[in-house]
Amino acid sequence: MEYKFKAEVKQVLDIVINSLYTDKEIFVRELISNASDASEKVRFAKLSSDKKIEDGELKIKLALDDKEKIFSIEDFGVGMTEDELVQNLGTIAHSGSKAFVEALKESNGNVSENLIGQFGVGFYSVFMVSDKVEVFTKSEGGKALKWSCAGDENFTIEECDKAERGTKIVAHLKPEYAEFASADRIREIVEKYSAYVEFPIFLGDEELKTRQAIWLKAKSDITAEQYEEFYKFQAHAFDKPLDWLHFKADAPVELNALIYIPSENPERLGFGKTECGVSLYCKKVLIDPSPKNLFPEWMRFAKGVIDSSDIPLNISRESMQDSGLIKKLGKVVLKKFIKHLAEMAKKDSEKYDKFFKKFGVFIKEGSAMDLENRTELEKLLRYESSLYPDGEKVSLDDYVSRMKESQKEIYYACGADRKTIESAPYLEAFTARGIEVLFFYDGIDPFVAGHIGTYKEKQFVSIDSGDIELPDAPKPDATDALADSDLTELKTWIKSTLGDEKVAEVLDSGRLVDSPVAALNADGITPQMRAMLRAMNPDAPMPAPAVKLEINPRSPVIKNLDTLKKSDESLAKLVLEQLYDNALLSAGLLENPRAMANRLNEILARVKS
Ligand code: ADP
Ligand code: MG
Repeated sequence: MEYKFKAEVKQVLDIVINSLYTDKEIFVRELISNASDASEKVRFAKLSSDKKIEDGELKIKLALDDKEKIFSIEDFGVGMTEDELVQNLGTIAHSGSKAFVEALKESNGNVSENLIGQFGVGFYSVFMVSDKVEVFTKSEGGKALKWSCAGDENFTIEECDKAERGTKIVAHLKPEYAEFASADRIREIVEKYSAYVEFPIFLGDEELKTRQAIWLKAKSDITAEQYEEFYKFQAHAFDKPLDWLHFKADAPVELNALIYIPSENPERLGFGKTECGVSLYCKKVLIDPSPKNLFPEWMRFAKGVIDSSDIPLNISRESMQDSGLIKKLGKVVLKKFIKHLAEMAKKDSEKYDKFFKKFGVFIKEGSAMDLENRTELEKLLRYESSLYPDGEKVSLDDYVSRMKESQKEIYYACGADRKTIESAPYLEAFTARGIEVLFFYDGIDPFVAGHIGTYKEKQFVSIDSGDIELPDAPKPDATDALADSDLTELKTWIKSTLGDEKVAEVLDSGRLVDSPVAALNADGITPQMRAMLRAMNPDAPMPAPAVKLEINPRSPVIKNLDTLKKSDESLAKLVLEQLYDNALLSAGLLENPRAMANRLNEILARVKS
């Protein structure tokens, strides 16, 4: 008997055939998920009627014929009656699964949400790749029927021979889509999209590998080994995950999420930029393996799955990415994930340390770039500090809580490692006053501090910046120091001897304790930035930075320099240049250490015993 599609079906068919999905391969996913739904319905019906399902009764069989260019799929699910064929495959706004669930709801009021169908256009996607589609189907105790359509406005239904309950769909592929009759191609597609279908899938005699969708199970039903095993499969990883977060939400969107933190950060090992490995599923069926706009950039280290049955009908991957839903999903999961990290930091600091060592750089990136979450992320930052031994880290909250009332700023020191920072002259003034200083070892730390600007209204300030006023600076012991008039003269001499290019200003300050001189950053370019500029353009000459040179009038070296200036000015000049280079070296700003060695030899040769 011949039927006409409802007008809107024809429209949808045209859309589906022509444009909706760019990935033609998803028709396999749609047909498998329908077969799975139909099988699920049998299981459910039998469960509620005490009939047992035989082992192997519910499977999904794929068969290919590459000569005839045929893709076919068979299930042993509920099948369809003639009315259902007309209704389910002939009208669009109707989801058979939905009607089924409603019917069951009325009968016993207790229905698994799993039964609700996939996408409204699901079945029609087969017309993207087919000239002609035949559906052979038989419901429990019903007639065997053949539905047939060539993608135009008509379809026919007639009786046929079919012994077993269930549905077989035969797709006659368009010549340009012959690839879907190739076993390798189909194996690949099933692995990609349908790895979590509950029923065994056969391709000919070969059983394809499928897995359990553990993210939909209760936490208590999953062992650590299962979590780890799933991670390896999902993230294509070989390592064990460092940690994972598994949760379910109902509002504002329904979702199940299982998010993993890997144990290694490939970016840190010098591989290129990582791509976020959190895939989007709708009821176990893959929608998008790496959805754009799900998370902010810094979350790209995360792996796992988000499954939401709220994903709307007939959506393509492209329009999915623009939809507000994906942002909503991402937001819910991200909020929970950040909270999870905060809890880890509180309850399992050892694990958090491990995490931060590998992935702290992403938390830093987020603190600087992710305006929406930065407040929470800043709390997760950790740094070594002058008050704690090597390897121990503190948070900004720790730091601020220890600040004396008079301290207005958060002080940090940049350097490749602890030794470098501790051997530079800047720290001593802070240590002497018991002021804590954070140690920034990472090139991006000062940038991040610059982006954060203030934490709890305290500004970040580098200890080598020129204009720090230490709150409780003890009055320098003047008795031992160079006389004021000598000092003024010495400063003028230093400035003119070294020249404006090298020194912007000569200062005497109370902050130096033991060191004779210190170079303070005058142009705001940190040594890290200089190193970066140099790396970017190695051939361009990089002049020594103009620094603020701070001298310590109490230091015997400075006092000797003053004496030497009066007796042997040319030697005093050499010594001054040497002191200047020493200061640059400590500040990590010395460009040419060779000159320093030669000069030192000259000085030694001229020193009279
Ligand atoms: P959805 O799966 O979202 O309901 P589809 O377009 O994929 O939408 O399928 C439409 C309807 O056709 C299904 O709801 C179901 O009732 C019916 N159907 C499709 N495939 C099968 C099948 N293999 N067995 C039984 N019914 C099917
Ligand atoms: Mg479907």
